[in-house]
Amino acid sequence: MALRKIVTDEDPLLRKKSREVGTPNDRTRVLLDDMIDTLLDAQGVGLAAPQVGILRRIFIINVGIEEGRDEFIEFIDPVILKTEGEQDGAEGCLSVPGRQGNVKRPNKVTVEATDRSGNRFTYTGTELMARCLCHEYDHLDGILYVDKAYEMEDDE
Ligand code: ZN
Repeated sequence: MALRKIVTDEDPLLRKKSREVGTPNDRTRVLLDDMIDTLLDAQGVGLAAPQVGILRRIFIINVGIEEGRDEFIEFIDPVILKTEGEQDGAEGCLSVPGRQGNVKRPNKVTVEATDRSGNRFTYTGTELMARCLCHEYDHLDGILYVDKAYEMEDDE
């Protein structure tokens, strides 16, 4: 386990499309462990592999964060199956430090993905988790939330 460096938005790598993983192997699992360490250290809600310089379709989300605990779900080769409703709120990104902006997102999102053992599963998130699923998924296609934000401001 190790911390990885989070790349920021000046890096053109964040604008690239990530490749599919297929069957996870030991290297995938090391990457996932490192991503968990890195996300915990950065105190973020989610982290996508391109944010640590790896152009693979992987992201993780701390689904326990709203209850003050840490519970990570790992999404490999995710596909968005369904979105419902709309929400509008502030969003930030570990790769865009010190800023936040308002983004419209669906209020409920269902994603299918592979877990670290190679099994497909589905996960449905609402509100913050739906926002996070969309945000992290966008990273895999080289999209940053600042592209979608209609109001940007600096954090205090
Ligand atoms: Zn982000």
